[in-house]
Amino acid sequence: MKLDAKAPSGPLEKKWEKHKFESKLVNPANKRKFDVIMVGTGLAGGSAAASLAELGYKVKCFCFQDSARRAHSIAAQGGINAAKNYQNDGDSVYRLFYDTIKGGDFRAREANVYRLAEVSANIIDQCVAQGVPFAREYGGQLANRSFGGAQVSRTFYARGQTGQQLLLGCYAALSRQIGLGNVKMFPRTEMLDLILIDGAARGIITRDLVTGRMEAHAADAIVLATGGYSNVFFLSTNAMGCNTTAIWRAHKRGAAFANPCYTQIHPTCIPASGDYQSKLTLMSESLRNDGRIWVPKKKGDTRAPRDIPEDERDFYLERKYPSFGNLAPRDIASRAAKEACDDGRGVGESKRGVYLDFADAIKRLGENVVRERYSNLFDMYEEITDENPYKVPMRIYPAPHYTMGGLWVDYNLMSNIPGLFVIGEANFSDHGANRLGASALMQGLADGYFILPYTISHYFATYKPQKASSDRAEFKQAETGIATRIKRLLEVKGKRTVDSFHRELGNLMWEGCGMARNAAGLKKNLEEIPTLREEYWRNVSILGKNEELNMSLEKALRVADFFELAELMCYDALERNESCGGHFREEYQTPEGEARRDDANYCYVSAWEYQGEGKPPSMHKEPLHFEFVHLAERSYK
Ligand SMILES: Cc1cc2nc3c(=O)[nH]c(=O)nc-3n(C[C@H](O)[C@H](O)[C@H](O)COP(=O)(O)OP(=O)(O)OC[C@H]3O[C@@H](n4cnc5c(N)ncnc54)[C@H](O)[C@@H]3O)c2cc1C
Repeated sequence: MKLDAKAPSGPLEKKWEKHKFESKLVNPANKRKFDVIMVGTGLAGGSAAASLAELGYKVKCFCFQDSARRAHSIAAQGGINAAKNYQNDGDSVYRLFYDTIKGGDFRAREANVYRLAEVSANIIDQCVAQGVPFAREYGGQLANRSFGGAQVSRTFYARGQTGQQLLLGCYAALSRQIGLGNVKMFPRTEMLDLILIDGAARGIITRDLVTGRMEAHAADAIVLATGGYSNVFFLSTNAMGCNTTAIWRAHKRGAAFANPCYTQIHPTCIPASGDYQSKLTLMSESLRNDGRIWVPKKKGDTRAPRDIPEDERDFYLERKYPSFGNLAPRDIASRAAKEACDDGRGVGESKRGVYLDFADAIKRLGENVVRERYSNLFDMYEEITDENPYKVPMRIYPAPHYTMGGLWVDYNLMSNIPGLFVIGEANFSDHGANRLGASALMQGLADGYFILPYTISHYFATYKPQKASSDRAEFKQAETGIATRIKRLLEVKGKRTVDSFHRELGNLMWEGCGMARNAAGLKKNLEEIPTLREEYWRNVSILGKNEELNMSLEKALRVADFFELAELMCYDALERNESCGGHFREEYQTPEGEARRDDANYCYVSAWEYQGEGKPPSMHKEPLHFEFVHLAERSYK
């Protein structure tokens, strides 16, 4: 497998401009001759589908929800970063670039990250033009707040519903193109396989989730914008439907999977409360602008929070990281919470919780201001916990939230399979080993509105694929393969539900490959996951049939893929004998308990190649070269 990142040469700030100029164009009259399949309608897929159709390409767009505007991006709460420097507080494209590289613990490609920072400002202009109702200052200027890992305020937001408002803007652009006939929308349709013809991606097989009918679709290029795979942990902040199937199927067809073990554990989620829970709820990082995080200084303290005097509270982030305080990056804040709870100072019934306290902010700003900034989050918290966060501190605990790993892509966002592009959270992304808050929306929209439209045009202009027909044998074979897999699952008629297997897999992953990992735990997982998977195919119980709306079957197919991905994540985590960002190997830490990177041996992207059923995957390296920033120990002290 050859991994050519295709990062352009030359000065950092000129790379993208030069690359765009050197990229070939497709004549406007020829654009309608090219068909694109877009899988996904979140901020990445929705923005890309609308932009490509606006350019004149013919787009078929797929999502498994009943409407494109229900993609998981709608859940994003806190905001989107952009280097506008409206606050005049020292921000710049270079600072956003540097914060992102450092935030990712120096495990991302410089050229990609700089381009992301560069186009960030265009995203805000685009969204404002679409009518996205960003929060504004009294004078009309767009407002900003701060997010973790930055000392400037560069996060644009729409109360606690930024993703929803951005997605509505994007959906309006997409709907315009659906109306014009340039995008054909296929809701409730799940991609179950990728088709390669002569080594290039030329089609997909889908299953209609209402009727179970399979269909083959051919195109000149395929774009996967299918989101992240945090649900491998069973409990996560992701929507229940989020899964890995699209990228996993592409991986099995030859696409390299990069950095699968880099997962983000978000520090501020409502703690798990029982065995019957099926998902966790995020309390946005934006709350750390005004909320202060603490635990009692005394172990096993059972007093109510308001009865614990100030000097008996440990504001551990403010104490350990005075420069960034409560806005320390997510990986660091999550580990600090775990450390406090492991030390016996956790709060709440389970003792796996820390306080996020707004008493000082309410005293300083007044309840009305706090309500204006965060009311929907406070309401959500109260509905779930029956506690009023205006009166008592929130209880929070880290939970799986975002996956920095994903399919490997070059600078053009193309995987190692020609014609297969991957955007948004589904690719291995620009975030290295840890994503900074408010940077996922930025990346998804950068990919969709401003990067893919250029790079896919270059592909069409240079590759000029012959038209492929969905009648070809490759499509038929893949359809038969999926039908056999579905039949096999339905015929098991075992004794355990899909959820019970998923929960057990999630537990293994959380314990062995979660916030902290070690070689012994990872090796144990690599023995236990295949055993559980084998039981799954022998003992899972799926009711109903294929030819109907069957959510149990949908989930069973997704969980089958999670089993295989989970194993790859453990291989990757075991191979990386260092700690970096969200990947914390307990064996590799500084005396203060911080992550200890090993730049001499691990300064690379690990890209895994599928080797076939029952065979261990093989790893390829894309070395990371740092020409413009100095590799430094990451410090937020
Ligand atoms: C609770 C929460 C809050 C967040 N808040 C923020 C925030 O404030 N700021 C920020 O920057 N980031 C935030 N994030 C992260 C951010 O929301 C996501 O990373 C981002 O929205 C992902 O966008 P996407 O377009 O890549 O994927 P998604 O929005 O997940 O969309 C995936 C799409 O792919 C489709 N799909 C998937 N698989 C298939 C298949 N096999 N066949 C057909 N269709 C398929 C789905 O139907 C969907 O349309 C948050 C995440 C969570 C969980």
